[in-house]
Amino acid sequence: MKLVKLLANLGYGSRKQVALMFREGRVTDADGEVLYADDVVEPALVRVDDEPLDPAPGLLLALHKPLGYTCSTKDPGRVVYDLLPPRFRLRNPVLSTVGRLDRDTSGLLLMTDDGALLHRIISPKSKLPKVYEATLAQDLRGDEAAVFGSGTLMLESETTPLAPAGFEALGPRRARLVLHEGRYHQVRRMFAAVGNHVEALHRTQVGGFALGDLAPGQWRALDEADRATLF
Ligand code: URA
Repeated sequence: MKLVKLLANLGYGSRKQVALMFREGRVTDADGEVLYADDVVEPALVRVDDEPLDPAPGLLLALHKPLGYTCSTKDPGRVVYDLLPPRFRLRNPVLSTVGRLDRDTSGLLLMTDDGALLHRIISPKSKLPKVYEATLAQDLRGDEAAVFGSGTLMLESETTPLAPAGFEALGPRRARLVLHEGRYHQVRRMFAAVGNHVEALHRTQVGGFALGDLAPGQWRALDEADRATLF
């Protein structure tokens, strides 16, 4: 792809604005040699104003979503895109969240501009485990593992039972859940179905990829090794 198109697709500006950046000599290779709009160059070798180019198309990133941010692009409040470089909102193909976390849920949120990868991760067929830690308003009853693992739990206004979910008590009011599907407000509704209430919810893992020590509000691009842990 010609550099002018690549940079426009990465949100550096309109084709016209990006063309001007080339004329101003702001786009170079790693040795400072000026590059031109029609050049076709490996993105990793390109610098803009002496900074490495944003991640090329095919980006998959992990964000530690803090509480209070929504996954929507349109919400008038704080949105997860506010935590990324502003250019990332202008990318083509667009950068989407891989599924959603509620405003009041923190933790691992994947985002990608790769539609095929997105569908592979969220597809019910892939049954990718998603691991959550919940803090509850009431003590656990003791039958949660049996109820959640049964494969027969019906949530209100659903027509099919939930797939069996993994459950582990972490304390009297704390639990780890492993889901293989992603229904609306699923964890909160599951605990409501057993007479409890989720006070705090945090996602620690998607597939084999764990949030690790990424601080709240921080993000990083996943490399090949990270991606290999997903499926
Ligand atoms: N389940 C929920 O209830 N909320 C989330 O954000 C994710 C899973």
